[in-house]
Amino acid sequence: MSERRLTVLSGPSGVGKSTVVAELRRAHPEVWLSVSVTTRRPRPGEVNGVHYFFADGEEFDRLVESGELLEWAEFAGNRYGTPREPVLRNLAAGVPTLLEIDLEGARQVRRSMPDALLVFLAPPTWEELEKRLRGRGTEPEDVIARRLEAGRIEMAAESEFDLTLVNTSVQDVCHRLIALMTDPQGVATTI
Ligand code: 5GP
Repeated sequence: MSERRLTVLSGPSGVGKSTVVAELRRAHPEVWLSVSVTTRRPRPGEVNGVHYFFADGEEFDRLVESGELLEWAEFAGNRYGTPREPVLRNLAAGVPTLLEIDLEGARQVRRSMPDALLVFLAPPTWEELEKRLRGRGTEPEDVIARRLEAGRIEMAAESEFDLTLVNTSVQDVCHRLIALMTDPQGVATTI
C-alpha cells in the first residue's frame, strides 16, 4: 500500500466534531483516529489511552521540547497535542488516518504537512451554532457574549480549509468523510 494523505477534521467549538468522530469510529473501524495528549482532567467515562492520553503540565512540556508532537494548541485553559510518530507510522502503512483537532492545530498541520486534507465542519446555520454555544442558558450574558464572539472568529477560518462539510446529519457527514478518506486520489468527488 502506498503512503496516504492525512485527513484533519476541525471546526468551531460546539459544531459537533466529537459526535461525528464517535459515529465514524463505530461505523468504520478501519479508520485510525489519532489519540491526543491533553493536560485536561478526564471526564467521567474517559479512558486513558483510548479517548486521550492524560498528562500533567510537566510531561506535556517534555513532549513539546522533544519534538514528539506534530502540533499542539491551548484550548479553554488546557493543552492538547497530537503524538507525531503514530500518525507517520499509520500513513506510511497506508491506513486512513484522521485527526480531530481545533483550528489552531489544523493551521499548524497545514504548515508542517502541506499535503494534508483539511476539512472544516460547519453548522447548518449560524443560529444553530449560536443555540449550541448558548447551551442551557445558565451562563451569565458576558460569558455567552465571549463564546459567541469566539464562534464568529472561528467561523471565519473556513476559507483556510480545503473543503467544508455542513453538519446537517451525522450519518451524512460520516459518509462524505469516509468517501474522501478512501478516495485514492483524495479528490472530493462526492462533495
Ligand atoms: P475536549 O476537551 O472537549 O475533548 O476538546 C476540546 C477541543 O480540543 C476540541 O475542539 C478538540 O477538537 C480539540 N483537540 C482535541 N485534541 C486535540 C489535539 O491533539 N490538538 C489540538 N490542537 N486540538 C485538539
